[in-house]
Amino acid sequence: MSVLVASPVTQQLTAKLRQRAIELRSLLQQHAGAAVSATDNPPEVLDFKDVAAEDRQAIIDEVALAHATTELNQIGAALRRVGDGSYGECLDCGEPIDARRLFALPATAFCTACQAIQERPAMPRR
Ligand SMILES: [Zn+2]
Repeated sequence: MSVLVASPVTQQLTAKLRQRAIELRSLLQQHAGAAVSATDNPPEVLDFKDVAAEDRQAIIDEVALAHATTELNQIGAALRRVGDGSYGECLDCGEPIDARRLFALPATAFCTACQAIQERPAMPRR
């Protein structure tokens, strides 16, 4: 493509990506705010049940935030590809990524086949 005019599908997907990025940023900001207020107001004595519940919640939050950060990075990369006109092409084989796949996973950089290769475990199955 010589002219960088995004197709209607790409425009729709870009809107999805931007919306998701806003959600993820606000999630990360909320967490940053919560961490600060927790330090400002150390909790009073808690019984063990509460502590265990809080620990579990903290672990869940950490996993969710790690995922959110990864997804935000992927979205950022996808939006850069929109900018340079390569969005929707597989980074690995260069083939167009199936539109249904893009609608399900707008930030994906790989077609189904290349993703499957990447996710294949290092040890061959017997
Ligand atoms: Zn591919």
